[in-house]
Amino acid sequence: MTERKMYINGQWMGSISGKATALRSPATGKVIGEIASGGREEARLAITAAHEAFAEWAATPARERAAYMQKVVQLMHENKAELAHMISLEMGKPIREARGEVDIAADYVQWNAEEAKRIYGDLIPSNAKHKRILVLRQPVGVTAAITPWNFPLSMVTRKMAPAIAAGCTVILKPAKQTPGSAVMFFELLEKAGLPRGVANLVLGNASEIGAEFISNPLVKKITFTGSTEIGKQLLSQAAHQVKRVSMELGGHAPFIVFPDADLEKAVDGLIASKFRNSGQTCICTNRLYVHSTIVESFASLLKEKVQAMVMGNGLLEEVELGPIVDQIGLQKVDEQVRDAVGKGATVLCGGSIRKEGEFSNGNFFEPTILLDVDDTMQVVREETFGPVVPILPFETEEEVLQKANDTTFGLAAYFYTQDLGRTIRMYEKLEYGIIGANDPVPTTVQAPFGGYKESGLGREGGYHGLEGFLEIKYVSLGF
Ligand code: ADP
Repeated sequence: MTERKMYINGQWMGSISGKATALRSPATGKVIGEIASGGREEARLAITAAHEAFAEWAATPARERAAYMQKVVQLMHENKAELAHMISLEMGKPIREARGEVDIAADYVQWNAEEAKRIYGDLIPSNAKHKRILVLRQPVGVTAAITPWNFPLSMVTRKMAPAIAAGCTVILKPAKQTPGSAVMFFELLEKAGLPRGVANLVLGNASEIGAEFISNPLVKKITFTGSTEIGKQLLSQAAHQVKRVSMELGGHAPFIVFPDADLEKAVDGLIASKFRNSGQTCICTNRLYVHSTIVESFASLLKEKVQAMVMGNGLLEEVELGPIVDQIGLQKVDEQVRDAVGKGATVLCGGSIRKEGEFSNGNFFEPTILLDVDDTMQVVREETFGPVVPILPFETEEEVLQKANDTTFGLAAYFYTQDLGRTIRMYEKLEYGIIGANDPVPTTVQAPFGGYKESGLGREGGYHGLEGFLEIKYVSLGF
């Protein structure tokens, strides 16, 4: 059985204890490999390697750093089919979505490779004749990156590419469900000839590895994507050494459809936003607000399209909806639907776990539409991370704005309207870091991705993302 190994200081290694745990397919329940079960010691080795490689990597001309990265981009494109297969195999998303993920993951590397050459400083006019004011941008140092399972490859490159471009060295800890995509990416880094120690991969016990990242003074920056709960924990612990942190945490996206919206486009947009990755992205729609005058026509068109979606093993070409990543995730989705139904919600379609035939050993939840929903239900307050859409009717713009903003989350929000004034009022007043105005898929490499409120800290993507890996140094030069 293939073991997903660690990559530390340019060497592949299993865990020091020799322990490994089984990995299972979320679609079939079958064992698909093993993951090395490392911990604190392996994290320490990786941090030391990253520290030792840092000075030289930071001093490597940007053009050379960019050249290594361009080589990685080329290798990613050459290995697209294998990478997409691994993504789909280990986390279950439809293979077509997995191919799209490889493309955007490679784009993160490409964009940051280009940008590495444009990390400029400033020369600011001084008040004194014999002084000059210089501003330098320098790499922040050894960076620890912790990534989730829902985008096993693009979350990795969205963090590692800007870090490496900026001149930082990195230790990655990917999610335990999806180590294979990270391992394949590191194989490509090795093939591209990246100097040893610049990028290191540790696998295993998350809290042990996290504790070493937090307490080891050689780590200067922690970049995390995952749950709000773990993010807050890391944030408070990082305060002890005032480590730099970037956080991409949970979301609870509202999707608002005004009566003047193009109904067909709005329904298609909702499907793209809600059912992509079976609802398992932090910017997926969680609450759907539809104007009361169109709620019936919207719901019936939505039901028709949702019922036509093909659910199954993501590796099959025709599949549009894959499984939920694991049993814990599946139970959470089920619990939210039971909670809503128990409080009076009506199931327009779906509503249950599937267990018959081809679904028997996987984690499948039917695509679900709920009506008669209210604010007391978990599905309207908590992140769902599943293919469930609760529909809430509304009457006025003020009312829906207030409801949309009434949450501690602030990642993504969507609305559909053809009225320009309303468009401007909405994007100005929604308290969210990412707004999709008549656009259900806003993520792109050159734009800043991140949240207001408890959804995060800092931005990823674009030049804003690169800034998270740079320190500003001010030099006051007298002569
Ligand atoms: P999810 O619910 O999406 O799995 P988590 O926050 O649990 O979200 O996981 C996101 C990432 O954080 C994963 O790589 C996971 O292994 C890691 N993680 C979980 N617990 C800790 C911890 N205590 N310290 C550091 N990383 C952790």
